[in-house]
Amino acid sequence: MTASVNTKAYQSLDAAHHIHAFLDQKQLNAEGPRVITRGEGLNLWDSDGKRYLDGMSGLWCTYLGYGRKDLNQAAFKQMEELVYYNLFFHTTHPRVIELSELLFGILPSKYSHAIYTNSGSESNELLIRTVRRYWQIQGKPEKKILIGRWNGYHGSTLGTAALGGMDFMQAMGGMLPDFAHIGEPYWFAQGAGLSEQDFGLKAAQELEIKILELGADKVAAFVAEPFQGAGGMIFPPANYWAEIQRICRKYDVLLCADEVISGFGRTGEWFGHQHFGFEPDTLSIAKGLTSGYIPMGGLILSHKMGETLVEKGGVFAHGSTYGGHPVAAAVAIANIKALRDEGWVDRVKNDTGPYLQKLLRETFDNHPLIGQVQGHGLVAAIQFAQDKATQKRFANENDIAWHCRSVGFEEGVIIRSTLGRMIMAPALVATHSELDELVEKTKRAVDRTGRELK
Ligand code: PLP
Repeated sequence: MTASVNTKAYQSLDAAHHIHAFLDQKQLNAEGPRVITRGEGLNLWDSDGKRYLDGMSGLWCTYLGYGRKDLNQAAFKQMEELVYYNLFFHTTHPRVIELSELLFGILPSKYSHAIYTNSGSESNELLIRTVRRYWQIQGKPEKKILIGRWNGYHGSTLGTAALGGMDFMQAMGGMLPDFAHIGEPYWFAQGAGLSEQDFGLKAAQELEIKILELGADKVAAFVAEPFQGAGGMIFPPANYWAEIQRICRKYDVLLCADEVISGFGRTGEWFGHQHFGFEPDTLSIAKGLTSGYIPMGGLILSHKMGETLVEKGGVFAHGSTYGGHPVAAAVAIANIKALRDEGWVDRVKNDTGPYLQKLLRETFDNHPLIGQVQGHGLVAAIQFAQDKATQKRFANENDIAWHCRSVGFEEGVIIRSTLGRMIMAPALVATHSELDELVEKTKRAVDRTGRELK
């Protein structure tokens, strides 16, 4: 489709002034970005009036879809009542109190305290400081190394890029000391010759090897996403998390789950760790907390950690102007109530989740370009592969997946490519017919990719 005059004007102004996230700006300027102007439910429209089915909930966040009036009104009402106040000067405000009450109503009873932030990156940056602070208070200040996973993603600040395992990100800002990494539990790519379960144990035991190498008295925490998202959408083998938990407990290492994309019902449980059956000491949250209607994140602490900080920690030198913002808190409250009271999480577990997973397997299990279909609830990945039986991947799998993503846009569906895999995470309010459309258009994009890259 040729861009309208309106679109061209937007594109040239954007090119003049804006540097976009994770893109080659020069290339983007030459191609011109799509200008997204409107959203309703799972649908987005661009400035030329083309409709897209959003298979990624924006950036894993618009759980309730676009255009929910109750969330908008919650923000507006709060703006009129108390648009802002901070949590510094011996003060608090009703919305942040109500939000905590609501959150600890849906969280497992192991957790008791929250610190609010404005994004997932900030939640994880805070996590780094909080676990180190925790060990200082416990009289073990030398326990300060955080272990993450290669290709894990925890944000794009200096600390979270160091904690995450994207080497190109670390190279950009300079690596920080006291971070270490283990491999990702990516059976399809790395487990050839091993059963998925044997590989799951082996991948988890890398943590034990790393702790012993560094010295347990120096390791503060292991941090990981329950399923790895931006770094390839890797779902661990079923026995992985139990083994990780056993190792963390054995060596007195905190287990920290980055629930930024797995929280708030994505897998059909409220939190990803519940779905995968382990009990972290901290949970980093954002995105689904407000369905992306307004920025907000947080760090959730277990009773043990919360009480340690409160009872023995004195002043915790941490805070931000907008952490716990009353308008964000009001939106989070409306969002969580809608997720809870309208039954969306149960629906993902018992209806739409199994529906999507079955449909994807029926469509792609025997597709000549696809080696593996994985997923839980409303999150899934399909892996491009040259040979499914031998798990042989394409040498240019990133180009293939990128092409498929672009073709997807042309077909009117937004799916994401990452490391040779196509990934999807539609809004929790998706209907069966929207999931049919998502899979059908994804198939068209995959088929076209096969034809066009031959
Ligand atoms: N953690 C995970 C698992 C994420 O996927 C992301 C973003 O996608 C982040 C943290 C960073 O969140 P934000 O982009 O809100 O800073």
